[in-house]
Amino acid sequence: MKDINKLVDKSDYNTLKHSYMDACSDKDFYKYVTTLPIEEDILIKYTSILEETFKEFKNCKNCKSLNNCKNKINGYKYIPEKTGNSITFSYQACDKLLKEEEKNKYLDNIKYYQISTDLSKASFKDVYKDDKKRVPILKYMTEFIKDYTKGKKTKGLYLNGSFGSGKTYLIAALFNDLAKKGVKSAIVYYPDFITDLKSSFNKDNYIDKFNYIKKVPLLLLDDIGAENVSNYNRDEVLGPILQYRMEEELPTFFTSNLTINELEKNLSITNSGVDKVKARRIIERIKNLSISLELISKSRRD
Ligand code: ADP
Ligand code: MG
Repeated sequence: MKDINKLVDKSDYNTLKHSYMDACSDKDFYKYVTTLPIEEDILIKYTSILEETFKEFKNCKNCKSLNNCKNKINGYKYIPEKTGNSITFSYQACDKLLKEEEKNKYLDNIKYYQISTDLSKASFKDVYKDDKKRVPILKYMTEFIKDYTKGKKTKGLYLNGSFGSGKTYLIAALFNDLAKKGVKSAIVYYPDFITDLKSSFNKDNYIDKFNYIKKVPLLLLDDIGAENVSNYNRDEVLGPILQYRMEEELPTFFTSNLTINELEKNLSITNSGVDKVKARRIIERIKNLSISLELISKSRRD
């Protein structure tokens, strides 16, 4: 008696082979499948999926940039791989994506709190060179990078000046540069951070956030003086952070629209009254942690 199963298998096989041969009439597809390290009798079972992987292979070959990726999943290619007598298909990150990820790895070294991660694009090479007012700041930064990477004790910067002049951008550029050398930092939009921290009081992540900011090697407290000052945030948050960083000699940066003297006045007034002594103690720590420079310039905001 004839084996019915074998007959069915044979006719299936012929159908599969037929559509495989059909697909191979496209000579590029043919070239693609024949260069795969997979035997033909396995390939023929997967013609339609191979046509998909071939399409992605072609997209990759003609790829202009990651942003113009034509594959189903951006930055990934669908690929066949022989396993035993069959083929398994999976998504693999393309070289361009891997390169991009490698290039952006330094970003893991910077944490942003309540501030736009667009700052990750800030770079020295884009700093406006036409503005003479930036020269002392850039000079300070070059020295800072040199000293810090040599392990020398270095002070941060208290950068005050007009709205939109580029204060935050400049310090972000410095942190980005050092992040590429492996230095960890945090950029904190201080007025919102303080509100957020208060609302997470008694929650698990409160102490984590607080400690991170306290101990991170480089810290920028951005826009200090724009917050609502309270006894609590001045004496229980800002004070201990600065005290710790002073004792551990951790460089701390500040940007503000206020001069140090104006900030002192600002810190002395809370809902509970005026306390010049406590404001002075904060200012002394800021002065100990940083040197003061000014950037008054036209606003660069759109
Ligand atoms: P500030 O902190 O002094 O208020 P920012 O640093 O926020 O000012 O800068 C204002 C705007 O100008 C931002 O949108 C910033 O991205 C842009 N900017 C500042 N400096 C530069 C620069 N050198 N190159 C490109 N954009 C810049
Ligand atoms: Mg700013």
